[in-house]
Amino acid sequence: MTPEQTERRRLYMAEYRRRPGVKARQLEQERARRQKRTPEEKARAHELKRLNTQRRRDAGIHTVTLLPRDEYERLFRAQRGLCAICRRPESSKSAKGRVRRLSIDHDHDSSRSRALLCSRCNTAIALMSDSPEIALAASEYLRWHRKVDAANRLQAALGGHRVPELSRDAAERMQEALA
Ligand SMILES: [Zn+2]
Repeated sequence: MTPEQTERRRLYMAEYRRRPGVKARQLEQERARRQKRTPEEKARAHELKRLNTQRRRDAGIHTVTLLPRDEYERLFRAQRGLCAICRRPESSKSAKGRVRRLSIDHDHDSSRSRALLCSRCNTAIALMSDSPEIALAASEYLRWHRKVDAANRLQAALGGHRVPELSRDAAERMQEALA
């Protein structure tokens, strides 16, 4: 799989798991699988889990975010608990109905953590292939159509109805970004 395919698959699976009923079905399958384990398998799984938790605790790593606890909290304070793109707090909820934490956005090439993002913005930039050019083209597209709508409302108020042409400059930039 190419990195794009891997990323698309990851996003699809994340979306799939949020569909109604999927979580419950997965929990049920997991429960059935656990019940079929031999006592040895159970003991081994238990020991592995204990070791893993201990290792993370020793390293001072936050179990949910997999980032050192103080590092996550430093970022969270610096961003005043808001997404670095939309400047809004996280709104999406977990299956248990709890508001999620802001996600740690990573540079996919270097794995360096960049900033905390809400799940919507995190998904949005991944879907735009982390490309500033595509994000800019999307921004210009939205700005342009907002202008078209305003112009149309004005035209309609004046009795006519006409969609203005896309400016050459904007059209060229969009084509460049998408090429
Ligand atoms: Zn956001």
